[in-house]
Amino acid sequence: MKSAMMTPDLLPGVELAMVFAERKCPELKGIKHAWCDECDAAHDQEPRQLSHTYHRPKTICWARAITDQAVEHQIGICLHEYGHLLAGDCGSVVDDEAGADLAVLDRMGVEIRYVGPHELQTVELGDLS
Ligand SMILES: [Zn+2]
Ligand SMILES: [Zn+2]
Repeated sequence: MKSAMMTPDLLPGVELAMVFAERKCPELKGIKHAWCDECDAAHDQEPRQLSHTYHRPKTICWARAITDQAVEHQIGICLHEYGHLLAGDCGSVVDDEAGADLAVLDRMGVEIRYVGPHELQTVELGDLS
């Protein structure tokens, strides 16, 4: 299986989001990306569950199914997870779903929207400049 050979940060959308997020928020450097069996199990129960954080230290966990998602969704989900980390750290916004997106808007200037039958996070690629 291809996804077993590579780490999630080599996916085009995750890599783009990581480089962008680290440029906007240098304190995010050192956050790692890893496949997670619990994330896979959560995805099997609920299709929109593709990522989580605060499971392993300084790590964003990914379900392997993220490899099937479009780059815009990979970026949107990845930035949302970074938003949880930013919200949890700085304390100026509440670390809930809306708070994570607010942290991304505040700190990176990117609006996260929700589209499709599973209400997946997405971004405008042009916003990542
Ligand atoms: Zn996990
Ligand atoms: Zn979330």
